[in-house]
Amino acid sequence: MFSVDGFDWPRLTRDADDLLQRLFPICRSITGNGVRETLSIIKERIDIHVGEVPSGTTCYDWTVPDEWNIREAWIEDASGNRLLDFKYNNLYVVNYSAPVDAVLSFQELREHIHTMPELPDATPYRTSYYNRTWGFCMEHKRFLSLSRDESYHVKIDSSLEQGSLTYADLIVPGTSGKEFLISTYCCHPSLANDNLSGTVLTALLAELLLSKKTFHSYRIVIVPETIGAIAYLSMNETAMRNLSGGFVVTTVAGPGKHGYKQSFLGNSLVDRVAYRTFDELGVDHVIYPFSINGSDERQYSAPHFRIPVGTVTKDKYYEYEYYHTSLDNLSYISAANIVGTLKLYASCIEKLEMNRSYKSLMPYCEPMLGKRNLYPKLGGAVKQNVGESNDHYSTVYDCSPERVITGEDLDAMGWLMFCSDGRTSLLDIAERTNLPMRLLHMTAQRLVEHDLLAEVGGPES
Ligand code: ZN
Repeated sequence: MFSVDGFDWPRLTRDADDLLQRLFPICRSITGNGVRETLSIIKERIDIHVGEVPSGTTCYDWTVPDEWNIREAWIEDASGNRLLDFKYNNLYVVNYSAPVDAVLSFQELREHIHTMPELPDATPYRTSYYNRTWGFCMEHKRFLSLSRDESYHVKIDSSLEQGSLTYADLIVPGTSGKEFLISTYCCHPSLANDNLSGTVLTALLAELLLSKKTFHSYRIVIVPETIGAIAYLSMNETAMRNLSGGFVVTTVAGPGKHGYKQSFLGNSLVDRVAYRTFDELGVDHVIYPFSINGSDERQYSAPHFRIPVGTVTKDKYYEYEYYHTSLDNLSYISAANIVGTLKLYASCIEKLEMNRSYKSLMPYCEPMLGKRNLYPKLGGAVKQNVGESNDHYSTVYDCSPERVITGEDLDAMGWLMFCSDGRTSLLDIAERTNLPMRLLHMTAQRLVEHDLLAEVGGPES
């Protein structure tokens, strides 16, 4: 069963940093070589399937567009001085710009320039996927320095041709018959929190899941946002309708607060394990109710699929000042923050894995614990130490017969014996008692060994 124990978090932080450095400069979009290169770097670490969906493929109400690739782009003044060059920042070009090579007046050029006067040092991120045009983005400061009397030579050497959309997926197989989704998007160019952080976290989480046996199956999906998720759903409709829930991993490494965007249900299994994770680990966070604006949960939770999908974030999209600007760069985020949020996702999954229901084999009254060595020798001497520590990442409960029974153990045994009617899950008991899932899981195992409980399989989600 998957648990968060035994991982080398410092190594994972170094790996996250290495991935950030390699992936950040790549110019990604919803199609093209940037996504291919990104996925091939991830494939060096995990054996993920990389697939292609040809341009023109119909996916429900959408069509996969022509593939976009770009080689160079710049603006020069009349003397040939280069005023802006894509090679220094891929946000300088409107993503999906059509090719252009022309000499324009300032008035003509300004129609194609996007800036953010409110953040004059930032270059905005703009896209034009389905409306064929071209454009440049730049710092408002730089725009103000352009002479109004000059003519400008603009060049964008891009192509929009029949090609394909690239995505990746991987199934981590389990035995429970339940499958959960972990999806992220990889279509943004050099933007760190949104969403290189999510892509890197997802790759590392896949690696952690693959390194242990899991009870449930996990479907890891890395797609360009919106069109990629829609294409993926249309290609995997039957399998996707069977999913029990999932997460869309996005904006996980900024300096701001952790947050949780609820699934459309708000009380699905994934929501509940997320709430327990934040509570048990004592992580301060903001709750964002489900909203129809956001990421690919919109597609995954559409009426035909209705997968409850939540998002654990750190500095959620829309909420931070540098969102969709060049200031969302590698100095805005950190590898340590990625790994901090990775632990939260891993802890959510650990709870999904531990969540079972049991049936009491001694349902008449409470069992006599003393004769099974499950009660302290001296009655009344037990210290009630519930809530003594909230560091349940690192707590490995000692399950040996010599273990000293604590007040917390007695509480866990009492509640488990009381609640185990075959329908009440460990998560139900954790919510009711505030006892950590790990303690309940370990204690349930012990009660099974003593023939006091029998597992009846995972609860209905
Ligand atoms: Zn975005």
